Amino acid sequence: MLNQRKSQSTLIFEKSHPGRKGYTLPTCDVPKQTISECIPSAMLRKEAPHLPEISENEVLRHFIHLSTLNHHVDKDMYPLGSCTMKYNPKINETVASMSGFSKIHPHQPVESVQGILKLMYDLQEWLKEICGMAAVSLQPAAGAHGELTGVLMIRKYHESKGNLRKKVLVPDSAHGTNPATAAIAGYTTVGIKTNENGLTDLDDLKANLDEDVAALMLTNPNTLGIFESQILEISEVLHQNGSLLYMDGANMNALLGIAKPGDMGFDVVHYNLHKTFSTPHGGGGPGSGPVGVSERLVEFLPCPRIEKQSSPVERYVLNSSYPNSIGPTMGFYGNVGIMVRAYTYLMMHGAKGLYDISKNAIINANYLLSLLKDHFKIQYESQVMHEFCLSGDLQKAKGVKTLDMAKRMLDYGFHAPTIYFPLIVRESMMIEPTESETKETLDSFAEVMLKIAEEIDQNPEVVLNAPHTTPVKRLDDAYASRNINVRYKAPEVEAQMA
Ligand SMILES: *Cc1c(COP(=O)(O)O)cnc(C)c1O
Repeated sequence: MLNQRKSQSTLIFEKSHPGRKGYTLPTCDVPKQTISECIPSAMLRKEAPHLPEISENEVLRHFIHLSTLNHHVDKDMYPLGSCTMKYNPKINETVASMSGFSKIHPHQPVESVQGILKLMYDLQEWLKEICGMAAVSLQPAAGAHGELTGVLMIRKYHESKGNLRKKVLVPDSAHGTNPATAAIAGYTTVGIKTNENGLTDLDDLKANLDEDVAALMLTNPNTLGIFESQILEISEVLHQNGSLLYMDGANMNALLGIAKPGDMGFDVVHYNLHKTFSTPHGGGGPGSGPVGVSERLVEFLPCPRIEKQSSPVERYVLNSSYPNSIGPTMGFYGNVGIMVRAYTYLMMHGAKGLYDISKNAIINANYLLSLLKDHFKIQYESQVMHEFCLSGDLQKAKGVKTLDMAKRMLDYGFHAPTIYFPLIVRESMMIEPTESETKETLDSFAEVMLKIAEEIDQNPEVVLNAPHTTPVKRLDDAYASRNINVRYKAPEVEAQMA
């Protein structure tokens, strides 16, 4: 019995029994042909593939079991700051799998895909409205790709002015993709300090502003969860200097229906559809990172652009005749499936619903912070928006690191927050509950955090050795990326094949 239970954690290959089948085919009602009659012998396998032979219910149980080993947002709260791990409404999946969306081909003539073009056009227009931008392109495949698209447009803008600038300013609280983007686009990055209130240090910004600055990349609210209240002044000093202003829009969950980047003076903003507009993410993709631009950059948008013609009949077209465009940044239309999900989410909520999302995201974060603030250190004491950062400094002084606390949280069934980011917060824990969690869930999350703080005083060993209940304990985080092996075979299979 025990062995059988244990076998739940075995590989599917180890569960294989010769002759077991997980499928049934109908009786053949056409003349039979052998494989060698259909496929040239040179292309035929010399031996059968080493596939597991297993019954249907065993296959199902195997994969359902695997899906419960990892944490995911359908299992419990996922407070990963900056990532907006909100609940993904299942209707998004139903709509995205409708054959009118899932079975069309990107090479179909435009006349036969008017439906998806209309959906993309409408999505583009709504995103424009949400951020107050002059135009939007849906092409980029993720936030980081939106950043690259945006900075390439900024580059082309300066080129068109005959003024090749060399530097991009990035605050020290920024997400790592910001400096990476600037570097890939050929710029040198210059770090800007954060002041004691957790805001961009204006003096340091001004001190670094010269005629070589192409742009400032800013996240608003920033990665501390704090709204950059001097944004209008920042925008003014930048534009006076001939520099442009980029907004990392990963934190749009705080602003929907409340404030528009366009009104703040931003020239480019990227949206993370997979964060703010609810499509599953975290497994490496696919995502979608549209970019919105101000009037200054419209002519540089990627091509083709999706446009609506009103006469003689309403139709949607792909227009590539923009000579100053940076060109396409994605094959075909971009990650359309993600756009269908975001469109569904927007349709379901409407303008008022979007405002409620951000309002509730902000209330939830502030409520959770009020439960935790007396027990953890807060490095920057400013009003927060939809997420906040705690420092694990008090606990570190007692010999327990933020990493240990994060591992202990897994024992209590929660995913850990984002840790050690932003880099300027010592022993950082960045928590974003999102609007989709109930008060009861927030209460139990806070209860767990306080319980761990108490354990650190009474029995630190239990935290230092966590996790205790997960299928695997502490892994070597860097091993897989330094020793890539995508051809892993279980030893049993290796033996069989030898
Ligand atoms: C997630 C995130 C990004 C990058 O977005 P991807 O879609 O993961 O490429 C950039 N900046 C911030 C602040 C983020 O949270």
